Amino acid sequence: MTDITSIEAALDSVAKGRFSAIKFAGGRVSLVLNVGGLDVRDRGQIEIAVKGRLLEMDGVETVDVAMTAEKVERRLIAVASGKGGVGKSTLSANLAIAMQILGRKVGMVDADIYGPSQPRLLHCEGRRPEAEGKQLIPVPNDYDVPVLSMGHLAKPGQAIAWRGPMAGKALDQLIDAHWGDVEELIVDMPPGTGDVQLSMMQHHKPVGAVIVSTPQDLALMDATRAVDLFNQAKIPIIGMVENMAGYQCPHCGEVSDPFGAGGAEAAARTMGMPFLGRIPLDIEIRKSSDGGTPPACADDDHGRAFREIAKKLATWLDNQ
Ligand code: ADP
Repeated sequence: MTDITSIEAALDSVAKGRFSAIKFAGGRVSLVLNVGGLDVRDRGQIEIAVKGRLLEMDGVETVDVAMTAEKVERRLIAVASGKGGVGKSTLSANLAIAMQILGRKVGMVDADIYGPSQPRLLHCEGRRPEAEGKQLIPVPNDYDVPVLSMGHLAKPGQAIAWRGPMAGKALDQLIDAHWGDVEELIVDMPPGTGDVQLSMMQHHKPVGAVIVSTPQDLALMDATRAVDLFNQAKIPIIGMVENMAGYQCPHCGEVSDPFGAGGAEAAARTMGMPFLGRIPLDIEIRKSSDGGTPPACADDDHGRAFREIAKKLATWLDNQ
């Protein structure tokens, strides 16, 4: 005879420790399944296994499963710059990968809504995210950094010309997606200091911001504006990264500084914020990043430079 005890025994074989509130009456079993920490695929599999196992039992005709998941405390880290073209997206992608290599559960939101480049950088261009109900499911990739980007929703080459409020709504959709067990979301912010940036900060409160700048004065002035915006929104600055610092000639090996040297470090010191590290200007960084094989994965100087910055970010997060 099927009863609650035999149902519990059956559930132990497919979902041990994950079920509660079992009821059995009139051929119908209902139960609550805790799917906390499982990704979408595993959730589907455990539900199928539970239903399949119970429907084999005498007198069980239907099975209702209510799934609950303990809420994952998810933290957003904004990567921002005062203007475009300084390598903010490149740093975001490599930082996310380096964090993943350090063993963290990281996802990527490409909030650079007017110029999304994360699908290319994370090598998952042209793949459309699926949805569960109204929630988008982030796109997986080879680097174990699930990502959502407007670039996944718009057709390649299609102009994205939304006004502020619409862009803000699109961003909400990317951030409030089905992130599963992801604990830290790197947000590649749009360049500049406009409405989209402000509304993103107000609605989603990143725990902190990493500011990217090239070393020259003009870029640093823009970076200062980005810092001001975060200060206004009372979001702590985690630190500054100097990108495109020092160019080593591939022919003679001489190092020159087309954009100046050490400017971002000095600016960080003046503004009283930590300096997180320096990434050199190197054609290999451009080639491998834009080619979807991010340098952060490599066991060389570039890979190490990104991983050192990721370690400082991880330490900052752990000290919060
Ligand atoms: P942003 O997000 O600030 O607009 P991107 O990350 O898209 O900037 O970078 C702009 C271009 O510069 C890309 O082609 C990228 O590959 C290249 N780039 C970024 N950082 C470096 C670097 N350190 N060395 C060489 N090229 C770089």
